[in-house]
Amino acid sequence: MKDTIVLYSSVGRGHLFSMIELGNLILTHNPSFSIKILIPTPTNTTKIDTTTFGCNSSITFHHLPITPPSSTTTTINLPPHLRIFDLARHGNLNLHHVLQSISKTSFLKAIVLDFMNYSATEVTTTLDIPTFFYYTAGAASLCVLLHWNIVEQNKTRFIKDNHTYLEVPGIPRFSTQELPPSPGDLGKVFLQISANMSESDGIIINTCNAIDGRAIKALEEGLCFPEERNPPPVFCIGPVISVSGGEKDDNGCLSWLDSQPSQSVVLLSFGSLGRFSKTQLMEIAIGLEKSEQRFLWVVRSDSDEESLKELLPQGFLERTKEKGMVVENWAPQAAILSHDSVGGFVTHCGWNSVLEAVCEGVPMVAWPLYAEQKLNRVVLVKEMKVGLALKESEDGFVSATELGDRVKELMNSEKGKEIRERILNMKVSAVEAREEDGSSYSALNRLTKSWKEKDHLSIFSPNT
Ligand code: UDP
Repeated sequence: MKDTIVLYSSVGRGHLFSMIELGNLILTHNPSFSIKILIPTPTNTTKIDTTTFGCNSSITFHHLPITPPSSTTTTINLPPHLRIFDLARHGNLNLHHVLQSISKTSFLKAIVLDFMNYSATEVTTTLDIPTFFYYTAGAASLCVLLHWNIVEQNKTRFIKDNHTYLEVPGIPRFSTQELPPSPGDLGKVFLQISANMSESDGIIINTCNAIDGRAIKALEEGLCFPEERNPPPVFCIGPVISVSGGEKDDNGCLSWLDSQPSQSVVLLSFGSLGRFSKTQLMEIAIGLEKSEQRFLWVVRSDSDEESLKELLPQGFLERTKEKGMVVENWAPQAAILSHDSVGGFVTHCGWNSVLEAVCEGVPMVAWPLYAEQKLNRVVLVKEMKVGLALKESEDGFVSATELGDRVKELMNSEKGKEIRERILNMKVSAVEAREEDGSSYSALNRLTKSWKEKDHLSIFSPNT
């Protein structure tokens, strides 16, 4: 019987690809493991075709059917786009059966949960399976998540005063306006995630000391966990880059970059969900033109009906065709960042985008849009010091002047030069962390060794 590690992904390709990458990494450290990746599959969706993934043959996939929560089946009140946080709970019965069945044919050594699947601990605790979390964002935002009780305590205060400042170990002082939004019961969910993570057997984080040093120290010293218990070990294994969107150059971005001078182009790309109103797109276009910098802009709009030409200022595409390229919806971001012609990146501060920029030594302008991205901006600008902050108005709008000025500052100023040098140094240290005997390599070795040495778990008995 083989030693098996179960990786329980959350919904969405980004989450799944992170888990696949983690599976690949585990196998490079210990090829004797068998990896089973559970894919939550809401009953109203089609199954993802896993045959196209082409990963290590020791990785197998299992679709876990889940009936999506409705207002009658859940007591947790979340807006539709955040119900993903309540999904795993509705698959717990099936998870129980699957884990029992896996343990009939293999030694189940551990389960790793995407942090969004926190409610799966109801099953893993019952079955007494060593339970780890994979936190795919940065260590500093994790410090804040683990302190969500402090956030809740301050809630009434900051609702009254609009905003107040919070001190959390591992991250520079930040305003409550920079917290991830927590509509409905999401605050309660964050508290539960924080509690379940604190009680877990370990937390795996996609980061490393060169990127998140102070936050990692705070976590390792237990400053972020409840005092009454021993903090779980943290395993910082990053930067792990997963190719989530396919790297096909359908739009010809890479060949266009081939014709541009070294480090001259600014990439503007806003993750898998970032989209803008027509008014904001117009403003970005005007700002880019004013900045006089070369650019590659991935445009996604709120409006499905209007063509690119209609969304942008009249004549913009024609006027900028020598200096700029505009691509609709999607571009191979990681490959673009690794191209020598790219010298700057206006980013929504999604953690994968940040890691991709660090690994290629590309300095950033930080324009956060959703989730924990405003906290990431604090970290990028004040702690890592590898980006410039873009200032938005209260409703999130960014003016053409602000965008143009920051892009120019990044590409063309002493400060921009300092930031570039800093991120190039960080790139070297981040790459070293992943090399043999680097800190991330050693962390993964410790983790896989501890799994290997764990006594064989037999959770199956005819009565369970
Ligand atoms: N991405 C891409 N092309 C695009 C937009 C995004 O390849 O046009 C990739 C990007 O390289 C990153 C991921 O999608 O790997 C986005 O992850 P991130 O954590 O930055 O943001 P999220 O989409 O989760 O908000």
